[in-house]
Amino acid sequence: MARGKKTCPACNKEVGARAMKCECGHDFAPKKGNVLTKVDTPPIVEVELPELKEPEPSTMTEEEHADRVLSYGTERAKLLLKMARWEKKWHHVDWNRVAAKLGEAEEPEDPGEEIEEAA
Ligand SMILES: [Zn+2]
Repeated sequence: MARGKKTCPACNKEVGARAMKCECGHDFAPKKGNVLTKVDTPPIVEVELPELKEPEPSTMTEEEHADRVLSYGTERAKLLLKMARWEKKWHHVDWNRVAAKLGEAEEPEDPGEEIEEAA
């Protein structure tokens, strides 16, 4: 970085060290009171998941959806299966079929009360 210059964190352009604002609109001026310390947002660990949207108004059956999940590969299918069970979502997919194809046991029936449907 050249002397008397600073780099704009927004656009990486070098601007005069005393510039209060970059061409791109980034404001170097320190905010009064509410000092903008670097906000340390923890990086969101996003598992890259294949698109698994709610079904379009298509004619795909639950089995076909299951096959599509399986087509993403074993690892992903397992992960999606897990998530589907945990979060009780993607009801348009026949997860038992997915589980069966993955060689996993079907979701064990809850021996106790039915939590799922409990009011
Ligand atoms: Zn800038």
